[in-house]
Amino acid sequence: MSEARFHPTRPLPYGRQHITAADIAAVTAALQADYLTQGPTVAEFEKQFAAYVGARYAVAVSNGTAALHLCALALNVQPGQRVITTPLTFSASANCVRYCGGEVHFADIDPATGLIDLGKVRALLADHPKEYFTGLIPVDFAGLAVNLEEARQLADEFGLWIIEDACHAPGGFFIDSQVREQRCGNGNFADLAIFSFHPVKHIATGEGGMITTNSEALFHHLLRLRTHGITRDPADLRREPDGGWYMEMQELGYNYRLPDFNCALGLSQLARADEGLARRRQLAAQYDAAFAQLPGVTVLAPGRPGHAYHLYVIEVADRKGLYDFLKTRQIFTQVHYIPVHRMPYYEDLGWREGDFPLAEAYYARCLSIPLFPTLTDEEQAYVVACITAFLVKS
Ligand SMILES: *Cc1c(COP(=O)(O)O)cnc(C)c1O
Repeated sequence: MSEARFHPTRPLPYGRQHITAADIAAVTAALQADYLTQGPTVAEFEKQFAAYVGARYAVAVSNGTAALHLCALALNVQPGQRVITTPLTFSASANCVRYCGGEVHFADIDPATGLIDLGKVRALLADHPKEYFTGLIPVDFAGLAVNLEEARQLADEFGLWIIEDACHAPGGFFIDSQVREQRCGNGNFADLAIFSFHPVKHIATGEGGMITTNSEALFHHLLRLRTHGITRDPADLRREPDGGWYMEMQELGYNYRLPDFNCALGLSQLARADEGLARRRQLAAQYDAAFAQLPGVTVLAPGRPGHAYHLYVIEVADRKGLYDFLKTRQIFTQVHYIPVHRMPYYEDLGWREGDFPLAEAYYARCLSIPLFPTLTDEEQAYVVACITAFLVKS
């Protein structure tokens, strides 16, 4: 097959934001409103986002990493406590434990899905005394939901909390044992879930993040931690107020707030979330069909119900060759991820090459190719044609 005659008029990254006239109007209105930050748009965004994922509460924060940090604080991660996560994720999923002085442990992936293998988590837990581990941070990798019903059973058996890192999966779901759809971040199984609104994610606010939960206690604690540990709520005050200005800083918190104009953009984007998700799924199905016929390409987890398709990942033998070849054709792929335990920081903590061979084998072959709602059918066909040309040539 020859390379396509169509040539795209713009570079094709693996992911990019979609900003419409409605988004711009929403931000403009927010900039002209009374509050640039700490205004009413924040609570409105939280309310609508919670409804979208099916959770009771949501707390908007400055980015996904801040969301993870606040979750670790709210769950009271202490120095020396041990938490399990996947090696196949963005480092932030693990770093939040380190911010609180905890120890990060890993369980290897299921190579068919890229998700943490809960069987390996069970083996790791069973191998240690009870209370050796305190928490589990599963990641809905590439947009495919972890089966949190199974994770919850494990967590209950071994006394763990769960933070679901759902950055890749707003709108994604898994099917539970009673054949119900369980949306990522709905709080039915995980104690807390987190999302990011970085421009490559489904919903973009520039920088931004969200925590969702069904726990009223965690919700109130997160609100306080987000604003310096300060409360004004009369029900929470320890002393009698001596005036209208009175507030109390009750614990060490942070300023992890998200401004109103970012929330206005988030609300506008959220209104189109289902549309964007449907287009992602359509593009993924078209890639699946094209690559099913193509020797030399393996697609990660094709055709799974509930997949939210943050990433479309293929696996090839000559990954570097394909990455470089596509780059010369204005197609900017990316690798998700260099396994966390192979990062020099984590190697300094004692982790080594060979510790998680399935994540490492996946890393050697994986490539995230362009997938975003405004990718046109012609652009996608061009990507397929270029990949085909490379594989036929090599
Ligand atoms: C993007 C991302 C984060 C961090 O989000 P930021 O908003 O960039 O801080 C954390 N975990 C995963 C899996 C992500 O993809």
